[in-house]
Amino acid sequence: MADSTDLSLAANWIRSSSSILIAAGAGLSASAINPHYNVGLDYTSVAAFRKLYPRMTQVSSMRCMYDAIGKHDWSPELMWGYLFTHVNKCRYNWGPTDVYQDLKAIISNQSIDSFVVTTNADGMFEQNKFDMSRFLSTQGDYSLLQCLKPCSRESVYDARPFIDHGLPHVDQQTMEVPSEFVPRCPRCHGPMFFCVRGGDWFIESAFAVGRKRYHDFIHRAIDQKQGLCTIIEIGVGFNTPSVLRWPMDELVSRFPHVRLIRVNMHAPDVPIHARKEKRAIGFDGNAADIVRQLKEFSLR
Ligand SMILES: [Zn+2]
Repeated sequence: MADSTDLSLAANWIRSSSSILIAAGAGLSASAINPHYNVGLDYTSVAAFRKLYPRMTQVSSMRCMYDAIGKHDWSPELMWGYLFTHVNKCRYNWGPTDVYQDLKAIISNQSIDSFVVTTNADGMFEQNKFDMSRFLSTQGDYSLLQCLKPCSRESVYDARPFIDHGLPHVDQQTMEVPSEFVPRCPRCHGPMFFCVRGGDWFIESAFAVGRKRYHDFIHRAIDQKQGLCTIIEIGVGFNTPSVLRWPMDELVSRFPHVRLIRVNMHAPDVPIHARKEKRAIGFDGNAADIVRQLKEFSLR
C-alpha cells in the first residue's frame, strides 16, 4: 500500500488541475493483466512469454517478448509467424484492463484538458477506448507496417490486412508462416517491418499529427500556464529516458505550476527540489495498485 498522505496530496493535484498529462512506458502495460491469460503484457517476463507463446520456447531461443526486438537469428517465416501471432494477440485483442480503465476514469472529468504520450507501440490506449485525438505514440505502433528501405516516405500501411492474410497459415507447431505470406512492400516488393523506431528507416512522419497535437497541448498546459498541470508518469524507466523520463523531470523542475506523480516499481525517484517543494511524488510498487488507489482518492 502506498502512503496515504502521499496519495491524498497526489489526488489533490489531480482534482485541482486544469490539465493532466499521462506519460506511459513499458511498466504500465506490464501491469495490464489480461484475465484470460492472467499475465500482464510484460516484455521482460519469462513466465508471461511461456503462457502466451508456449511453442516459441520450443522452436526458438527466445525467453521473453523483449528477445524479439532486434533479433536477427531467425528465418523470415518464423519471425512473421511469431509477429503475426503476437501483434494480433497483444495489439488488437488484449482488450480492456483494470489499470487502463482506472487511468481513463482519472481523466474522465470533461473540464480537464488531458493528453496521453507513450513509448509503448502496443495500442493499449486505443484498446481501452481513450480519446485518440489526444494521443501520441512516440516510438511507433504495431498497427502499421512500413517499407524497410524505405522506398518512399509514403510507404506506410495498415498492418491488419497483412495479418489477416497470414495468420490463418501460421503452423501452430513450428510457428512458421509460408514464405508467400511474409509481407512485402506493395510499392517496391522489398522487406517490411512494423512502423516502430527500430532504426533510421523508421518513418516517423506517420505520427506527425499526434506530435503536433502533443506540442499544442504542451503549449496550452505549460507555456500558457492555464492553471495547474499534473503529469502522471507510469512505468517509464531508463530504456529510452530522453523520450519521456528526462523531459518530465525537466517540466516539473522548470515550471512552478507543474506537478509530477511518478509511478515506478524500480525507480520512483523524482527531482529533489521539486520533491522538497512538494510538487513531485514518486510511488514504487505495482502500477495497477497505485493507479487504482489514485483513482479512488481523486474521485472521492
Ligand atoms: Zn518499399
